[in-house]
Amino acid sequence: DFISSDGLYNMIKSQYPGVFRSGKDLFDVQLLRTHDTIKGFNLFMGILKELIVNAKSTATHSFIKKLADMKKLKRVYTQNIDNLEELVGFDVNWQFERVKNCKAQVVQLHGTLSKLRCNACTNICPFTSQYCEIFKEGGAPNCPECVERENTRVKQGRRPHFIGQLKPTVILYGDTHPKGLEISQIAKRDQDKADCLLIMGTSLRIPGVKDL
Ligand SMILES: [Zn+2]
Repeated sequence: DFISSDGLYNMIKSQYPGVFRSGKDLFDVQLLRTHDTIKGFNLFMGILKELIVNAKSTATHSFIKKLADMKKLKRVYTQNIDNLEELVGFDVNWQFERVKNCKAQVVQLHGTLSKLRCNACTNICPFTSQYCEIFKEGGAPNCPECVERENTRVKQGRRPHFIGQLKPTVILYGDTHPKGLEISQIAKRDQDKADCLLIMGTSLRIPGVKDL
C-alpha cells in the first residue's frame, strides 16, 4: 500500500519534509540532482523492492496469462515495475532489437525493479537482496564490473578511473525510455493487428501511455 496515510509515500515524505510533496515526486528524474534527494530516492527504491519481493501475482495476472496460453494475447503493455508478470510465467526478458515479429509478450513501459544498471559502464545486474539492503540505507552499490576493471588497472599501476553506481532500471518522470522508439514501432504494428484492447488499472494520465 503506497498511498494511504501510513503508506510508503507518506513514510518517505515525513522523513524528507519539503523534499517530496507527492508520490509523483518520488519518481521524478529531478530527484537525482542533490545528495538529500538521491538518498531519499535510494531509500524509496530499497523499500519498494523489498515489498515487491514479498508480493504475489493477482487474479488479473493469471487471467492475462490464460489469454496468452489460449493464443489470444498479442501483447501486454504494463506501467508496473514490479515484474510480477514473470511470476505467472511470462517471458519478460525484453529484447528490443527486433521490432518486426517481436516475440516478447510483455513491454515494461516504465522499466523494472528486477534489474540494476551501472550509471558509468551500463552493466546490468540482478537487483539482489544484498543490494536491496544498501538501497534501504539510502546508498547505492558500486558496480562490480567497474570495481573489477579498477582493480586490474591498479595492479597494472595505471591511473584509477571513475567507479559507477548501480541504479534501478526504472524510467522516471522526465526520463526518456532508452527503447522508446522501438516501443512505439511495436505498438503501431500491434494496433494494426489487434481486434480488442483491454485497459486495466490505469487512469491513463501518463501521456506516453495515453497515446499508445
Ligand atoms: Zn560499471
